[in-house]
Amino acid sequence: MSVLHKILNSILFSISVLVFSSPALAGPLCALGQGGHGGADIPATPLAHQQMRSVAQALCQKFKCPYFDFAQTQTTKNAMAWSDASGNYIRYNSSFMNGELQNRGFYATTGILAHELGHLIDFSVNTANQNQATREATADRYAGCAFALAGEPRENLLALAQSLQAMGSSPGYPTAQERVALVLIGYNQCSN
Ligand SMILES: [Zn+2]
Repeated sequence: MSVLHKILNSILFSISVLVFSSPALAGPLCALGQGGHGGADIPATPLAHQQMRSVAQALCQKFKCPYFDFAQTQTTKNAMAWSDASGNYIRYNSSFMNGELQNRGFYATTGILAHELGHLIDFSVNTANQNQATREATADRYAGCAFALAGEPRENLLALAQSLQAMGSSPGYPTAQERVALVLIGYNQCSN
């Protein structure tokens, strides 16, 4: 086995460990739109795992990613990420994600997961209090960055942009237009 293969395998192993580690519940720091958590966790689907892995492989080669737990839950309206003393968590609602997958496509749900992982990286780097709009802007930039690092062409951001437009504007969030711009800024910052 080549050194590269060994490194790759060890990266894949750490990602599956962080994806399958044990769940816990705590206060939300990000929720795309309204919603909450507190319901039972359900294992993420194979497709969601695959997307989460590819997002982690892209972002975690450049940024220090915290270990996190990933699952679906019906009590989250769409997707969310939070960090607390017990760990780092990403949760998504399968009805929401299936809808985005069908209506906007594969790269929309990939982008949503990238946004959530962006929050976890941001939480671990910027521990000072920040308002929600700043947090969301940063996570959107990470989402765009993930696409650039994965070598995706810029047009694959279109599905995510459509998804952000469809979610509309929520209080405390940048507007949909601003969010699309932030995703593009993130993409450009991480290109080459
Ligand atoms: Zn967010």
